[in-house]
Amino acid sequence: MDFSYSEKVLKLKEKLTDFMEEHVYPNEKVYKEQLNQQASRWTAIPPIMEEMKQKAKAAGLWNLFLPESEYGAGLTNQEYAPLCEIMGRSMIGPEVFNCSAPDTGNMEVLARYGSEEQKKQWLEPLLAGEIRSCFSMTEPDVASSDATNIQSSIVRDGDEYVINGRKWWSSGAGDPRCEIAIVMGKSDTTAAKHEQQSMILVPLDTPGVTIERMLPVFGYDDAPHGHAEIIYDNVRVPAENMLWGEGKGFAIAQGRLGPGRIHHCMRLIGAAEQALEDLCKRVQNRVAFGKKVAEQGVVQEWIADARIDIEQARLLTLKAAYMMDTVGNKEAKAEIAMIKVVAPNMALKVIDRAIQAHGGAGVSDDFTLANHWANARTLRLADGPDEVHRRQIAKLELRKYKKEGILK
Ligand SMILES: Cc1cc2nc3c(=O)[nH]c(=O)nc-3n(C[C@H](O)[C@H](O)[C@H](O)COP(=O)(O)OP(=O)(O)OC[C@H]3O[C@@H](n4cnc5c(N)ncnc54)[C@H](O)[C@@H]3O)c2cc1C
Repeated sequence: MDFSYSEKVLKLKEKLTDFMEEHVYPNEKVYKEQLNQQASRWTAIPPIMEEMKQKAKAAGLWNLFLPESEYGAGLTNQEYAPLCEIMGRSMIGPEVFNCSAPDTGNMEVLARYGSEEQKKQWLEPLLAGEIRSCFSMTEPDVASSDATNIQSSIVRDGDEYVINGRKWWSSGAGDPRCEIAIVMGKSDTTAAKHEQQSMILVPLDTPGVTIERMLPVFGYDDAPHGHAEIIYDNVRVPAENMLWGEGKGFAIAQGRLGPGRIHHCMRLIGAAEQALEDLCKRVQNRVAFGKKVAEQGVVQEWIADARIDIEQARLLTLKAAYMMDTVGNKEAKAEIAMIKVVAPNMALKVIDRAIQAHGGAGVSDDFTLANHWANARTLRLADGPDEVHRRQIAKLELRKYKKEGILK
């Protein structure tokens, strides 16, 4: 395994870092101010976001994800990792480069499993950053970490499918530009356990789709993106909106969640790097009890541990990316599960130390630490709770010793 950066990646890294310093970090505050000046935090996008997007597009820093595809920048997962990391240093960074969740995962689904017509209608405007999308799988009434529990129904009726169900935590559905949902539901409850589910494209303006409320995360509304509870009540869409085919929902979920998960991990490494940088700068500028906070042994231990933790997580992420590139997402499932446990826990630890080193300032919104912490905490749940990934890792480990039947 060679994790050195190619010439192409080194150039992109430099360009991206310069762009972040020139356009993204200085505009974090502007973005927040513009959002708060609006009549509602949900009805419009701060104009600075479009300005930054246009600049990123012009600079060729656009759609850097999407490996093995005629779309995107033609980078492998391993090449994308250090770039995604840089974007993740800012909460608003990924969207500037059209590389934010859940759109990247949804675009991968459309690129891999969409029909030509679906690609034209939905993938192209998503790639252009003109519209946004959401992914509706989780339901309030069932333990959705086990996707076989999903109850929503997708029933064929002539040339249409009829969708019924209640979903929550559909991230991104609050965005006024969000036009399309990928909805997971059951199309055949009599089929084999993993062939009952389908995924279907539902335009959000279809009659019967109601956004009932937006769910805050530790008090952050994450506007204008947000996390929605959505009711699908006798929603009718053309049969052509089915993705790949009836019964393929589980298979698509496996394909979708791999890239989506590792992107979260890459961004979390960036968030941890940013937190460590903030920590180091802060403790060199504050004096307590007669010496710089940086001179306290305990603080130096935090710094050392943070560096160790980040490096370990980065190496495992790169290994997972390498596996995805060389043997495919399915074969890389153990590494993806491992990094999905490691990265959020690592980021939480590093950000927590940075918050501590900032004193009260650390939990205020004068710094982005609190927001990054809240986001990292959700990622111990979103895209699968730690326990479910650990279960998967244990299952694969046990399988090596041919003790069949221990974990189904
Ligand atoms: C901020 C945020 C954004 C999200 N975005 C999306 C989105 O865009 N689209 C979407 O569909 N969903 C989204 N989710 C939902 C997320 O993926 C689910 O919350 C997650 O899969 C867990 O499902 P659940 O909430 O139903 O928890 P449950 O399935 O009820 O699980 C609860 C807990 O039970 C424990 N548990 C479960 N299984 C096991 C096991 N095998 N062993 C031990 N313990 C276990 C775990 O601790 C788990 O956290 C988001 C969630 C959050 C918080």
